Amino acid sequence: MLCTTVRNNVECPFMTKKGCSYEGNVCKTIVPQCEGCARIHEYSEKFYCQILPDPMAKWKTGNCNMATHVSSIKVETKQKINPIKASKRSKG
Ligand code: SF4
Repeated sequence: MLCTTVRNNVECPFMTKKGCSYEGNVCKTIVPQCEGCARIHEYSEKFYCQILPDPMAKWKTGNCNMATHVSSIKVETKQKINPIKASKRSKG
């Protein structure tokens, strides 16, 4: 249904005939961790996430999995090899 609150005229799954069904009946603004994300959109001079109603909840337990500015690729750490142990392993 089309939103009649923050994202006026934008399709939203939380919108019902009785109004916004999300907690507090309105979307919540972005949090500092969102800065740099391409999903941020300005509505009525405030910044909101285009796809999530409560950005703070998304960051509570770690990085937001929908963020465009956070890489989820883990950087491999180089393992130090002890040359003495390595030579013993190769000799069998
Ligand atoms: S997708 Fe995540 S990081 Fe990006 S604006 Fe929404 S809540 Fe913030």
